[in-house]
Amino acid sequence: MISMTGVEKWYGAFQALKDINISVAKGEKIVLCGPSGSGKSTLIRCINHLETYQKGEIRVSGTVLGHQAKTIDAVRREVGMVFQQFNLFPHLTVLENCMLAPLRALKLSRQEAEGRARQLLERVKIAEQADKYPAQLSGGQQQRVAIARALCMRPQVMLFDEPTSALDPEMVKEVLDTMIGLAEEGMTMICVTHEMGFARQVADRVIFMASGAVVEEAPPAEFFSNPKHERTRKFLGEIL
Ligand code: ATP
Ligand code: MG
Repeated sequence: MISMTGVEKWYGAFQALKDINISVAKGEKIVLCGPSGSGKSTLIRCINHLETYQKGEIRVSGTVLGHQAKTIDAVRREVGMVFQQFNLFPHLTVLENCMLAPLRALKLSRQEAEGRARQLLERVKIAEQADKYPAQLSGGQQQRVAIARALCMRPQVMLFDEPTSALDPEMVKEVLDTMIGLAEEGMTMICVTHEMGFARQVADRVIFMASGAVVEEAPPAEFFSNPKHERTRKFLGEIL
């Protein structure tokens, strides 16, 4: 589904990603963790080309993610993304937020786009908020709208970048439950998160990064009980 081979990225003289080799099979759930500044956001942003990279290759569903606008659009259609800060359009209602990309990018009719949006808002248990604006919702509700909005494109893969870290503690669970539901339905997912309970429950593999490189990857049971590298042990000691 996704493969990254020898990916390297620099911001000017600073190397943010070093020889990244990751492959993710259809239906696989990956949790990506690591200290602040280790390159987690940069890595997942490269997958839908919110960042460019200078060396190596990224393939999504067999398409090489080059720099031509056409393949970028094709790949973005298949890759849904959810951010820490929700990034909803403040001037559009919840329903309109969910309809925008299907109308513009998929050229669905208004009726089809609205049907799809309402169905997905139902699924994230927020259908009754469809006509509100983002500012009228709680953080947890906004994040569930962001998930529904991404799902309206019927993506093959969902990328999550710390989706719960901007939320008040009592709202974390509703968003994690939504993500767990998605995982149970077989969605391919890459989640940057420090929610280790979620990692234990959902992840097929946990990937630990430090200083722009992948240091260790293992199934959660092994990752938590028997971390191999000193940096992983230190990190786990700090967050658990
Ligand atoms: P956090 O846990 O704090 O979100 P992260 O693992 O997601 O961290 P990145 O945001 O990917 O880390 O950043 C990796 C490194 O690249 C950091 O050292 C950061 O300062 C640097 N960096 C990120 N974006 C830019 C940019 N636009 N220009 C220059 N340097 C950047
Ligand atoms: Mg980040």
